[in-house]
Amino acid sequence: MTTSSNSTAPSRLGTAIVTGASAGIGATYAKRLAARGYDLILVARRPDRLEKLAASLRAAHAVRVTTHPADLAQPRDLEGVAEILEHDEAITILINNAGVATLAPVAKTGIDALDAMTDVNISALVRLSQAAVTAFKKRNRGTLVNIGSVLGFHTLPFSAAYSGTKGYVMNFTRGLQEEVAGTDVVVQLVAPSATATDIWESAGVPLSTFEPDKVMSTDDLVDAALAGLDQGESITLPSVEDPQLFVDYENARLKLLAASQTGKAASRYKVAA
Ligand code: NAP
Repeated sequence: MTTSSNSTAPSRLGTAIVTGASAGIGATYAKRLAARGYDLILVARRPDRLEKLAASLRAAHAVRVTTHPADLAQPRDLEGVAEILEHDEAITILINNAGVATLAPVAKTGIDALDAMTDVNISALVRLSQAAVTAFKKRNRGTLVNIGSVLGFHTLPFSAAYSGTKGYVMNFTRGLQEEVAGTDVVVQLVAPSATATDIWESAGVPLSTFEPDKVMSTDDLVDAALAGLDQGESITLPSVEDPQLFVDYENARLKLLAASQTGKAASRYKVAA
């Protein structure tokens, strides 16, 4: 089911589609993009929350807001959202934000919880990225924002599966950036660190266990991510003060890749020539 409000004229900026808009980072993206003047399509499972947010955005900004309740772990619902991306030519930006986290050792996590992370964090993000990039490339216009995590390049004993999903998001999104190089299509990877949302409680790690000064607000996170987008960043690490750290990481990564292209076993393995 999709509900909409069409009393205002279409936005000249086009329509932003935000997944996981019913809470946390996605809801904040929706607010910020409405304030910028985008029309919106809000996607998540909880229709009551989407409707409440939509009503407040319509009241606060002269924009069209449509709600599209969908469970992105369900193939039919996911295809419904992908079809919107494929056919609605007004869409100019996708915020691929919906995500779930179970933070516990894999041996103590049920397969349903592991599958839920793979379904939403990887499969849904990939399908919607594919639909968006295909449509945007045809029009040579459009912006895809994929929400990864700093756990995309780090893992902990209780985050193997979640970190794995975010590592996928990082490499997948970087590959897409290579695919759109030379076009006017923009692909941004946003890698938040700890941010104050419900995800922690649902993951089994209450926010109260964090040092408060290591947790960002969703307002600061999304404002920084959008500023990074405006500045043309392809990878935005909103909480990292020193950008040289990422340059060093990139240089080390490329040096390691180059060093792997030898065609022979390293001498320490004593493999006969
Ligand atoms: P959140 O407050 O729990 O919000 C998650 C959103 O995803 C909700 O709107 C939820 O809506 C939606 N969602 C979950 N499963 C869904 C499904 N099957 N189908 C459709 N929508 C679904 O968490 P958040 O922190 O804002 O997370 C947003 C993104 O940021 C995630 O990708 C997360 O991995 C990433 N992230 C968060 C942090 C952090 O510290 N908070 C750090 C790094 C990265 P419904 O429940 O209504 O479906």
